[in-house]
Amino acid sequence: MSRRFVFGTNLKMNQTAAESVRFVQDVLDGLEPVEGCQFFVIPPFTSLPAVAPLAAGSPLWIGAQNMHWATDGAYTGEISAGMLTSIGVQLVLLGHAERRGLFGETDEAIDRKVTAALAAGLKVLLCVGETAAEKDFGVGEETVSRQLKIALHGMDAVALPQVQIAYEPVWSIGAGGTPARPADVTPIAAHLRTTLTALYGDHGQGVPILYGGSVDPTNAGDFTALPDIDGLFVGRAAWTADGYRDVLAAGLAGLAGRR
Ligand code: PEP
Repeated sequence: MSRRFVFGTNLKMNQTAAESVRFVQDVLDGLEPVEGCQFFVIPPFTSLPAVAPLAAGSPLWIGAQNMHWATDGAYTGEISAGMLTSIGVQLVLLGHAERRGLFGETDEAIDRKVTAALAAGLKVLLCVGETAAEKDFGVGEETVSRQLKIALHGMDAVALPQVQIAYEPVWSIGAGGTPARPADVTPIAAHLRTTLTALYGDHGQGVPILYGGSVDPTNAGDFTALPDIDGLFVGRAAWTADGYRDVLAAGLAGLAGRR
């Protein structure tokens, strides 16, 4: 089954709204639509109202970095799915390692968020990944399949086309991360595919699995050349428009080599 190629970046707690407008405009100016490819940028919440209209009708989804599962209520500091869709946000990132590790987000909370996001019409980019300790104990596969099964618990196959999975080994992301080798990624991506198929049969074959963690133009093509990897979720290397384009070009070259 051919799956769409999905590529983009999460800006984390970086950029003012004005900086995001310049960045998204520069990314859009250099973006050639490619058949079967979907692009995204996930800026901070405060940039969303300014950048969502810029990307409307383009091949670029604008995403939020998090949301609450409730539609409204006494949840100081939180943002609901409906608030995001009301300003044209199409995608929400859920379960990023920093949310899990620094802010105590549990698998159960992520499940509730996935359910609420899909019900509100958002697409979901769900992150899974094992820590260095889980890798050393040899439970990487169990970890990602537990995260995946709980996050998608109760989700009907009809919602699957709205879901993309990012495999991000926690030990490989961010400034202190060690880039994974394709040999580290292959078995986990295959295990995620097997888990999706066990849950959803053939429908599970259509879900894109992205790789993320210290991706840059020198290694992007090594990951997209892997048969179970259908895109890249990039941090630091894509935080300039030139960087975004360079990593994308390298990723597309790796993809072309395998097709
Ligand atoms: C991330 O933190 O999700 C990430 C992919 O970051 P980086 O590419 O900077 O490792």
